[in-house]
Amino acid sequence: MIASVLLEIKAKSVDKTFDYKIPENLKSSLKVGMRVLVPFGAQKLEGYCLKIKETSNGSYELKEIIEQLDQEVILNEELMTIGLFMKSITLTSLSNAYSTMLPTALKAKKNKNISKKYETFLSLNVSYDEALFLCKNEIQKEILSLLDESITIPKKEANHISVSATKTLIKNGIVKEKKEEQYRYQIGLYEKTKPKILNEEQQKAKEKILSYQNQTKTILLHGVTGSGKTEIYMQVIEQIQRENKCALILVPEISLTPQFVENFSKRFDNQIAVLHSGLSGGEKYDEWRKIMRGEVKIVIGARSAIFAPLKNIGIIIIDECHSDSYKQENNPKYHVLDIATKRSEYHNCPLILGSATPTLEVMARAEKKVFELVSLRKRVHHNPLPTCILVDKKEEVKKGNVMISAILEEKINDRLQKQEQIMILLNRRGHSTIIECSSCGYTYKCPYCDITLTYHKTSKNLRCHYCGYTKYIDHLCPECKEDALNYYGMGTEKLELTLKEKFPSARIVRMDTDTTSKKGSLERIMEGFQNHDYDILIGTQMISKGLDFPNVTLVGILNADATLNIPDFRSGEKTFALLYQASGRAGRNNLPGEVVIETFNKDNKILNFVANQDYTSFYRYEMQIRKQLKYPPYYYLAQIKIKSKEYELARAEATKVVNYLKKNLNPMTIILGPTTANMFRINNVYHFEIMLKYRFDEKLKRTLQELDQIFIMNKKVDIDIDIRY
Ligand code: ADP
Ligand code: ZN
Repeated sequence: MIASVLLEIKAKSVDKTFDYKIPENLKSSLKVGMRVLVPFGAQKLEGYCLKIKETSNGSYELKEIIEQLDQEVILNEELMTIGLFMKSITLTSLSNAYSTMLPTALKAKKNKNISKKYETFLSLNVSYDEALFLCKNEIQKEILSLLDESITIPKKEANHISVSATKTLIKNGIVKEKKEEQYRYQIGLYEKTKPKILNEEQQKAKEKILSYQNQTKTILLHGVTGSGKTEIYMQVIEQIQRENKCALILVPEISLTPQFVENFSKRFDNQIAVLHSGLSGGEKYDEWRKIMRGEVKIVIGARSAIFAPLKNIGIIIIDECHSDSYKQENNPKYHVLDIATKRSEYHNCPLILGSATPTLEVMARAEKKVFELVSLRKRVHHNPLPTCILVDKKEEVKKGNVMISAILEEKINDRLQKQEQIMILLNRRGHSTIIECSSCGYTYKCPYCDITLTYHKTSKNLRCHYCGYTKYIDHLCPECKEDALNYYGMGTEKLELTLKEKFPSARIVRMDTDTTSKKGSLERIMEGFQNHDYDILIGTQMISKGLDFPNVTLVGILNADATLNIPDFRSGEKTFALLYQASGRAGRNNLPGEVVIETFNKDNKILNFVANQDYTSFYRYEMQIRKQLKYPPYYYLAQIKIKSKEYELARAEATKVVNYLKKNLNPMTIILGPTTANMFRINNVYHFEIMLKYRFDEKLKRTLQELDQIFIMNKKVDIDIDIRY
């Protein structure tokens, strides 16, 4: 018997399968989809067993597998197909695809520091009366009192009373010990809640979704904020479970939406596994095995949970499907939506895309009836969407209201008096964004990146938000040595100080990556705000996510222009989604909500669509622009980045790449560039960019693959291809 083993060799990951003899002792235990250790030249390498066959084509003598590394299959048939699919859509290697799909503990790499966790339990070995009779002293009896004929206790509880007495009890055969595998992560236990009575829109949506049970169908659930999408998901899943099927649910970021998992565990018994980046390697490994062993019926997780080895899937849900986080930034640059579609085909089950602000690509497919569109136009509690005011910041600055506008200040005072809560979004962390010397004009810049440094007052240093470079600041200008440094621009830190001065009695809390880096701090802030320990929550885009705080009646958005000015064709769409979501935090319960948006571009169309809470007009407007400029969804985009520490080299190679593409691609494909990237220099590496706009190009994939291969040999220049940018 021969095994074909997939090995990853070289840092740039080239796929190779090699044949190995299966030794006698592994013939019955080794299965396709397990990892093995094999000799490779002078080394020992880990690889995936992809095939077991009778004979090998090679003429050379085969070596034997050294060791079988798994007792359970880790790549089942479905995951193997997904790997191949991922390779085909992202141009990554198969071994890299599998590595991406599996938790760290199960990757075929030297990684033996994550193992199963065991706990030892004690139980009675004889009847209780007999045990009592055999006990020699009071301490032994005390340990015994924890036990009962049917009760098992963790050994550490007995050890807590006395280690030596516990030892004696075991030695004398009165109690026995047993080692059991323990799962590290446990979802909190909550009191169960009953399903809510759905309103008419919700009921219709639920029925529509269920009409596609056991069919491959993608459904866009387009519902305004607060329309009760989560309740629909839960009731659909209840129905699906009656057929003994499982549900896979993706959310953008679990740590920001703990209420989501909580709601599910209040409804469903202990059948939920959770997968996200906040878990330790060991916890992820355990959750993965719970799923593989079929011990859970529901998986809730962030991006990589799309690879959860759940069997018998009856529904896949991607909540907030417009979120950036569903696209992986690093290689392989896959989008969750593509993988989810593949899995929905495999399981013959519906795929639900939930959002208040779907991307244009998704909405366009729904309009073309490729996806089924289900809309929720009303909020559950029938309260209207919040009213929005656009404030002209230019006028405010003239009046001297540099930090916040007069109207926002007035409304904050009003809410504080009514004991209602306020959220303020400022999508920029730190204190001051620019420090300039008024004497010589010097500004602090990152020595490695093309960006000005941000001042953080609490830690008294300057930081690069790209590469993490930090520098302590002196009160003198480093250039002209004058005491003339001025601080401009406002981040969340400065805003917090400003508001504390303006509203001395208000209880204010700030939520951004600086205040939430410690484990548990994020949860504490959110819980505190939920319990009304705070009146005002200040934060970056973190606070715009799916949080549901019923007592918030005012949302202020301070630098609405920031995302709008990012040079990216999606900036309009991203701004709309961010501000619409943030606005949606206001007035979710019985109290009406108000939103104040401050901007230097009061006439900007996108901001006016947000102010009117009007997705449809936004969609029509933006689609027109995309059509004119030949952007998605009218064209596909591919992005190629050429990177090098040497500027001239990067530039020359980028030009060569363009010439190569011109020769090899379909003449209808538009090739733009090379241009310098938005962030031209990051960490001292220069970036050049080439964009491809195409509709159909049968030569595209192969050409890009070849290009990728050419650069594998190049040690000085790197290529980075995103085939569906
Ligand atoms: P969305 O995700 O669409 O923004 P949510 O699912 O968070 O909305 O629902 C908003 C609020 O309404 C939640 O507190 C939820 O518990 C509640 N809710 C949802 N459906 C109903 C219903 N049918 N009856 C009463 N309350 C509901
Ligand atoms: Zn930097």
